[in-house]
Amino acid sequence: MKVENSFSKILYIDLSKMKFSVEERYDLFSKYLGGTGVATQLLKENCKEGADPLSEDNALILAVSPFAGVFPLASKTVAMFKSPLTGDLGESHAGGRSAVAIRSTGYGAIVITGKSSSPVYISIHNGKVRFRNAYTLWGMRSCFQAGAIIRERESGSGIRAIMRIGKSGENGVAYSAVTTETYRHFGRLGMGAVMGSKNLKALVVSGKNSIPLADKKLYREVYNEIYDAAVKSDVMKKYHDIGTSGNVLSLQKIGALPTRNLQEGKFENAKEIDGVHIAEHYLGRRVACAHCPVGCIHIANIREPHPNEPYFYKTAQVSYDYELLFALGSMLGIGDEKGMLKLIDEVEAYCLDAMSTGVVLAWATEMFEKGLINKDHLNGIELKWGDAETYEKAVEYIVEQPNDFYKALAKGVAHASKIYGGEDFALAFGKNEMPGYHTGPGCHIGYAIGTRHSHLCNAGYSLDQKMIVDGTKETPQSIVDSLMKEEKWRQILSSLNLCFFARGIYTMDVIKRGLKSVGFDLTEEEINSIGEQVYAEKYSFKFREGFSFADQKWPKRIFETKSPSIEFDSKFMDEALAYAEKKIRELL
Ligand code: SF4
Repeated sequence: MKVENSFSKILYIDLSKMKFSVEERYDLFSKYLGGTGVATQLLKENCKEGADPLSEDNALILAVSPFAGVFPLASKTVAMFKSPLTGDLGESHAGGRSAVAIRSTGYGAIVITGKSSSPVYISIHNGKVRFRNAYTLWGMRSCFQAGAIIRERESGSGIRAIMRIGKSGENGVAYSAVTTETYRHFGRLGMGAVMGSKNLKALVVSGKNSIPLADKKLYREVYNEIYDAAVKSDVMKKYHDIGTSGNVLSLQKIGALPTRNLQEGKFENAKEIDGVHIAEHYLGRRVACAHCPVGCIHIANIREPHPNEPYFYKTAQVSYDYELLFALGSMLGIGDEKGMLKLIDEVEAYCLDAMSTGVVLAWATEMFEKGLINKDHLNGIELKWGDAETYEKAVEYIVEQPNDFYKALAKGVAHASKIYGGEDFALAFGKNEMPGYHTGPGCHIGYAIGTRHSHLCNAGYSLDQKMIVDGTKETPQSIVDSLMKEEKWRQILSSLNLCFFARGIYTMDVIKRGLKSVGFDLTEEEINSIGEQVYAEKYSFKFREGFSFADQKWPKRIFETKSPSIEFDSKFMDEALAYAEKKIRELL
């Protein structure tokens, strides 16, 4: 097999016609590498302009790259779709075995369009595609259960990934996720609802194609360098030992841990929900994405007695990281770690995005506390900070949507606060619920201008932390310049399916030599230019679908609760937004 043929074939699946076809698109991979770069183009080509995100006109793209299955930590499949939460660019990355499995089938990307007339799942084994009846899987409460059944049905050899939705995706919750290999997720921006709207329960992918290389000697050299750095570096050790869950106490220390809907930046029970405490009392094991020697996925074991049977226990295995501990811990005032882990388990079983769920529930709790909604809105329950059990019930109601209030909550906090009020403390940016950092202006500007409104777009929190440590005072313009530079660089990383935890290992030099070993001889300027183009293309899709800087409003809460970095007010933030728009439009 020619090197370029091993990653540049695209599998197109039309669910309305139950048909598939394959096309060679080396034109796309040679220009945009793979992952985010190629997926953006395929989204533009296959999602109809102005499409309802929950209709057959939306497209779902999964893309890998020439690095997937070849280099360590190139484990993150990129998914792209029009987001039902924000109405524009939906992008989500997940590891597990997904990237290696897709690459092993011989495809570089999968494009799913249309809508099946009844529930199905798609099974792709090497080059073969089958549409399977998913009628009996539809309506199952837990996506874990659905995954177990598919696992039984789909025996076969090769590396296999099972990407499936839960009941939240079936019911169209705008922030429903897709789970792969039980503990990894395409979490943000509602890919689960897009699959649900297509009557697509799951995608099973497996393959065992070998992957050719352009320069084996160079490949071995670069591989060993990356591997050694991954297993010996202190940075990666940190991810393995405690993982990001240790951020709870780090952020608590500087007063940047969003607590009770960001009414405070410190939580009195931070120690109980921090990664060190959980590791000491609950850590059962660590697992890793395929082709990753780090293993940062931490799994807690929680044992629950049966209500009627003595000495009979159910053990749940719950994966956790910082974002979950913030969203379903401090943000809801939950300091009882076992209650929090049970709540995480529930949210994961329904296959919801934990960050959005936590922020939505925090807003609803404050609305109830302030008397802006009552028990009727909440379907008879009373939301109270720290009450994990009642939050479990609320999660069920978000998924089942028994009344108009829960229907609104299922569309996200920006939507719900437009109807019921409380916009000043509805913590969403670009309609996406906030991540767990209140470090200063950098993080909030980063959420607002990031192409997917996530902390992962440009790591604004790092800029704030730098200001805290160095005592430097950035301006709105310098913050935007730094964030845009970082986001352009990250387009290269995600176009190669790289895990962002490995960003310290994958330097420009390593990427350049790695690309050469798989058949891309590019200069530093050419690689940087790809990052800039991909960034611009993503914004052009956002504008095409109606994203507007003029619609961005800062929730007042971010100014009311002091953050540890430099002072900022709405004037400072508006200046940043105006400057970002100018700079972005210059790229288009
Ligand atoms: S470091 Fe963690 S998230 Fe990244 S590839 Fe490895 S196991 Fe997956």
